Amino acid sequence: RPRVLSGIQPTADSFHLGNYLGALREWVTMQDEHDAFYCVVDLHAITVAQDPELLRQRTRLSAAQLLALGIDPERSTLFVQSHVPEHAQLSWVLECLTGFGEAGRMTQFKDKSARQEADHVSVGLFTYPVLQAADILLYQADAVPVGEDQRQHLELTRNLAQRFNSRYGKTFTVPAAHIPKGTAKIYDLQDPTSKMSKSVPAGVVELLESPKRSAKKIRSAVTDLEREIRYDVENKPGISNLLVIYSALTGRGIADLETAYEGKGYGDLKKELGEVVVEFVTPFQERVREYLDDPTELDKVLHRGAERARAVSAETLRTVFDRVGFLPPM
Ligand code: ATP
Ligand code: MG
Repeated sequence: RPRVLSGIQPTADSFHLGNYLGALREWVTMQDEHDAFYCVVDLHAITVAQDPELLRQRTRLSAAQLLALGIDPERSTLFVQSHVPEHAQLSWVLECLTGFGEAGRMTQFKDKSARQEADHVSVGLFTYPVLQAADILLYQADAVPVGEDQRQHLELTRNLAQRFNSRYGKTFTVPAAHIPKGTAKIYDLQDPTSKMSKSVPAGVVELLESPKRSAKKIRSAVTDLEREIRYDVENKPGISNLLVIYSALTGRGIADLETAYEGKGYGDLKKELGEVVVEFVTPFQERVREYLDDPTELDKVLHRGAERARAVSAETLRTVFDRVGFLPPM
């Protein structure tokens, strides 16, 4: 069975619709045909300042949300990144193979660092994509389900894998990005030209906020001055984004929705999409609460996950250390 690995940051109390439609929904389906490794990437989270207690809570909350979305810990290995020290260890080796200029071309770093005071931008934020490469390569992943914003990081991962392999002999599987068609980039409801993001909480539909609040956010989504409900990303980014979300959550095609809403107004579309979202998040939130009610069980799942992850990652790291010429410890 092909391997799959992906991760999500515990940088907010809640995942958002972009995380779900761009990545997490794929995580769930890919469990069927893949040997899956999914992690809550807390090492990545501290590339920007985090409150320690909040980070711990959000890490548990992230795991609970993944379980509630359908990640099955019997079939998939669900773990917390910091529980597996090999991630940071391999990252160092890969950093030494990464060009400074190469890392400097990462657009996510440019965007995220531009939003902070220069003094507050950490070296960790700069090397983040290399740690991400380590996450993936440790497990010899064939496929990495992610949203469109991760395409460039995946390209770097592939380059690093190939570079290592050609310098030291075939060691890593060269992974492919698995980016869903149609939902790879969900846009912010208040600014439908930029991506919905945990770190820019403007028009973000959070899976754990009150369903009423989500419905209200959708009703006040920024649209355009026309009246026609039609998919047209250039001229109607707001309406197009709503149609994409609507289609993804109901399985109805976009053309079908356009026909159904012929002659109706934006208000109708927004109201009904609000209802669709409420129907989706309400049972989800119920399941999250159940997992949180039993934190010991949750921690047990993560503990078992870390053990399974370590068995795989330790073997890869051993080979890597040997190939680069480190003296074995015993
Ligand atoms: P941050 O703003 O802190 O980076 P994020 O919202 O981008 O948070 P991540 O934890 O970085 O969330 O990403 C988790 C997964 O969700 C990644 O695979 C990413 O590509 C995907 N993703 C994030 N935002 C979107 C979006 N708006 N549309 C589609 N996929 C997304
Ligand atoms: Mg992100």
